[in-house]
Amino acid sequence: MKDVKSLTILVVEDNPGDFDLISEYLSDVSWVSYDLIPCASLQQAKEKLLVNTLDAVLLDLSLPDSTGIGTVSNMRSLSDRLPIIVLTGIDNDEVGEQSIQQGAQEYLAKNELNGRLLSRVIKYAIKRKQMDLKLEKLAITDPLTELYNRRYFFERGWNEYVRARRYEHALAVVMMDIDYFKKVNDVYGHICGDKVLVNVANLLKKTVRGIDLVSRFGGEEFIVLIPETELKGVQLLAERMRLEVADTPIEHNGKSFHISISIGIAMIDANNGDFEGMINQADIALYKAKDKGRNRVELYDSGLHDDYLPR
Ligand code: GH3
Ligand code: MG
Ligand code: MG
Ligand code: MG
Repeated sequence: MKDVKSLTILVVEDNPGDFDLISEYLSDVSWVSYDLIPCASLQQAKEKLLVNTLDAVLLDLSLPDSTGIGTVSNMRSLSDRLPIIVLTGIDNDEVGEQSIQQGAQEYLAKNELNGRLLSRVIKYAIKRKQMDLKLEKLAITDPLTELYNRRYFFERGWNEYVRARRYEHALAVVMMDIDYFKKVNDVYGHICGDKVLVNVANLLKKTVRGIDLVSRFGGEEFIVLIPETELKGVQLLAERMRLEVADTPIEHNGKSFHISISIGIAMIDANNGDFEGMINQADIALYKAKDKGRNRVELYDSGLHDDYLPR
């Protein structure tokens, strides 16, 4: 027996006649089974999104609580992962292009609908959205460790910094560098070096909270953004990360060895200058940790400027 694929589609449409038509067209399609969830406004869509696992959205542009092209971006702001197919009574290419610009994957005029066409358009909208999400992820991810990359760290970091300043929240930047990493490459080879990087990345990810942002800052440097935490909490977390790395052996070609990381902490305060200044401070603290013998955590304080220059 042939497998019939099943798709759950949110139909945001305030005209019951149009909903019935869509339902009828899609019931003609034998190779996919469509589970249609009706909703007559964006507000209802918002509620349905919370309780359903959906594959796509069919979106009418004139709804009781949103009309025109802005409906697409309003829908997009409710979910950035769902494929959106705009269905409208206005058969106009300009509306179509604008819909795509606002974040829809496809556009169909209601008067050109039939089951075959609608089914095909839904299928490709889903594929296109999957590809878009993959590309978006690639742009912000380090391919080796799958951590966020430096670019994303700066983007999110600046946002968090501005927000923390405005609302007087705490914020910490924790910078880490693997100790004597060059030796790992020299003694065990580059592939083993890569393995160590992935290993450290996973240990860091495992140790932080969900709202903390771990990223690969450079070669063997990592940086963590920690919002809404007091100094004590950050120091505890940094110490946990240090121990986690120091205590976890690396297995390679039947041999086992240990590595360590040095850590520098900077807290948000009146002397940061700005977010990049805060990163510099974490770097200076990290330099101090290296200088004091490595495998340790140091906190930035303003007296460090003269003795510890950034690398
Ligand atoms: P320190 O304790 O002072 O940090 O010494 P270190 O040897 O870790 O520092 P150094 O900056 O001299 O070496 C960093 C090395 O990291 C040099 C570079 O070849 C290596 N590296 C950078 N990116 C990668 C990578 O993606 N994979 C591997 N295997 N090595 C990398
Ligand atoms: Mg309508
Ligand atoms: Mg380094
Ligand atoms: Mg190093």
